[in-house]
Amino acid sequence: MLTRNNNLQGNYVPSSCRWLPRKCSVFVWRLGLNKLATMDSLMKRNIVRGNQNCVFCLEAEETSVHLFTSCNLSSTVWSLVSLWCKIPFIWAFSVKDLLESHDFIGLSGKKKDMVQGIIRIGCWSIWKARNEVRFNNKNVKLEDIIRR
Ligand SMILES: [Zn+2]
Repeated sequence: MLTRNNNLQGNYVPSSCRWLPRKCSVFVWRLGLNKLATMDSLMKRNIVRGNQNCVFCLEAEETSVHLFTSCNLSSTVWSLVSLWCKIPFIWAFSVKDLLESHDFIGLSGKKKDMVQGIIRIGCWSIWKARNEVRFNNKNVKLEDIIRR
């Protein structure tokens, strides 16, 4: 069934956000459709073998849900975003929960749009930091993600 946030295959499609850079919007669209090259999806396609753990905590398999919602690092990012935006704590148990959380915290108008954009930019920053660690062996700190 085709609903507001689903395509014909029933996959979640994030709502659009007008003021994000195109690169970030494409990233969010891929994230919503679970099309990022996370270690679990590369493993399923037999592209990688070996350690697939999250580069931040080293404790859990790297999936989109872990990387963006349940990892200690992302949880800390969202608690800081909550404090900074003066909104209730962002609790997300799925990528869809996270990307639609601006709809469920009692906001409207410009502030709602801003929170939507900030969460999406936060996801993009987490992904960029993950790539820096995974591919360039960089030591990324929480402050590096928050400052982006
Ligand atoms: Zn982790």
